[in-house]
Amino acid sequence: MRLRKVKYAMAKISSYPELMILDPENHRGSWQSLFQKSQPIHLEIGIGKGKFIHELAQSHPEINFIGIEKYDSVIVRALERLIDSPLPNVILIYGDAEKITSYFEKGEINHLYLNFSDPWPKNSHKKRRLTHPLFLERYQSILSKDGLVEFKTDNFGLFEYTMMTLVESNAIFHELSLNLHQQTDKEIVMTEFETKFTQMGFPIYYISFQLKES
Ligand code: SAH
Repeated sequence: MRLRKVKYAMAKISSYPELMILDPENHRGSWQSLFQKSQPIHLEIGIGKGKFIHELAQSHPEINFIGIEKYDSVIVRALERLIDSPLPNVILIYGDAEKITSYFEKGEINHLYLNFSDPWPKNSHKKRRLTHPLFLERYQSILSKDGLVEFKTDNFGLFEYTMMTLVESNAIFHELSLNLHQQTDKEIVMTEFETKFTQMGFPIYYISFQLKES
C-alpha cells in the first residue's frame, strides 16, 4: 500500500498497549485472556487501515478479531479508528505474518482473512506472496481443524497463483467466484482496496478454502 509516512505512527502505536500488541510472541496460546469474552478468534492478515476488521467486528460481537499489519503508517489508521469507535472484540498486532507460528499456538485461530494481499508479481519475490506454500503451511498450523480461509483480490496474477498453490497443497475448496460482487447475495464487508477497485469496475476474485495437514 503506497502511503505517506506518518511521522508520529510509532509513538502512537506504542501508547495503546491494550489495543495494539507489539510483543505478540508473549501472548502465544493466551490470546483469549486479552478479550472480554472467550469466543472464536478470527484473524485478518494485512489489515491496511482497518475498515474491514472494524466493520465486521461491529456486526459480529460473538467473535473476537485479531488484525496483523506490518506497516506502521497504515496500522496507525486502524488504531485511530478503534480509539474513535472502541470495540471490545478487536485487538491489533503490529507484526509480520512470516512469524505467525510464533504468535499463535496450533489451532488457536478459527478463521482467516486475506484481503487484497500484495501481489509481488516478480518471480524472485514469490516467497513474499501471502499464499505461497510456506505461508499456507503456517496457516494450516495455527488454524483449528475446520478453520476456513477467505481470500479476496483484484489481481488476476495473484488469484491464478493462489489457485495453483491451493491445488498443489490439496486444499479443500468451498466457494469460488470470478466476480464476487455480481455473484453473491451475501452481505459483503468491503475493504479499502475493494471499495476502490469495485468503483473502478474491476471484478473481485474470491476463494474460500480449508487446508489439510500434509
Ligand atoms: N486489506 C487491506 C489492505 C491491502 S494492501 C485492503 O484490502 O484494503 C496489503 C496490506 O498487507 C498492506 O498494508 C501491507 O503492509 C500488508 N502486509 C503485506 N505483507 C504482510 C505481512 N507479511 N505481514 C503483515 N502485513 C502484511
